[in-house]
Amino acid sequence: MSMTILVIEDEPQIRKVMEGYLRQAGYQVLSAADGVTGLALAQQEKPALLVLDLMLPGLDGWEITRRLRSSSDPALASLYIIMLTARVEETERIVGLEMGADDYVTKPFSPRELVARVRAALRRLETQTNRGPVQVLVFGKLRLDPTYRTIRLADEVVELTSTEFDLLHYFMRHPGRPFTRAELLDVTQEDASGDLSAYERTIDAHVKNLRQKLGGAGRHSRFIETVHGVGYRFVPPMTSGAA
Ligand code: CA
Repeated sequence: MSMTILVIEDEPQIRKVMEGYLRQAGYQVLSAADGVTGLALAQQEKPALLVLDLMLPGLDGWEITRRLRSSSDPALASLYIIMLTARVEETERIVGLEMGADDYVTKPFSPRELVARVRAALRRLETQTNRGPVQVLVFGKLRLDPTYRTIRLADEVVELTSTEFDLLHYFMRHPGRPFTRAELLDVTQEDASGDLSAYERTIDAHVKNLRQKLGGAGRHSRFIETVHGVGYRFVPPMTSGAA
């Protein structure tokens, strides 16, 4: 069974090269040259992964990400998104992560590098699904189910990206323990071979998103606390009565 990758990219040459490399790597590839067609394909075909160009005619990459993330279908809300961007500025990258992409690749990129990222992401998603029945974690009103990869807060479903889920899962398995950004990078398995401090800032972006989705922001937000000079830790909510 081969997995389906959806590529949304308006530049024909880049699209064709990506299609070729991904097919050669054994994936089924669907592609679209504009945002509207691409989003419709994602909704119909529910691909295993989406390679999404940021600048697109019609709907751009941000808007597509926003719509997928707010979908009521968990397969779309948690769809792994690799964003392609022509902008190298660090701020743009951070904003990209805040928009809910799981990973990003800056143009020009090597198609082999993209295939490597796709393969790593899918392997990771697969191990997560095949890990078998794992413990459901409950802290007060926060409930994480690793088997179904769902988070509920006071019975409301919280939609997280794949990376945000992995981070929260890690935090919740080690309540109270402070982690450095470098340690958390291991959890997200982002390739930090370049400038480490830049990558560490992507952790800040992920944590910021998590806090927002869990209903708190700022230094002393609930659940994830900033540990000055270290990084972050998960603080279980105070529970009244029986936990
Ligand atoms: Ca483009």
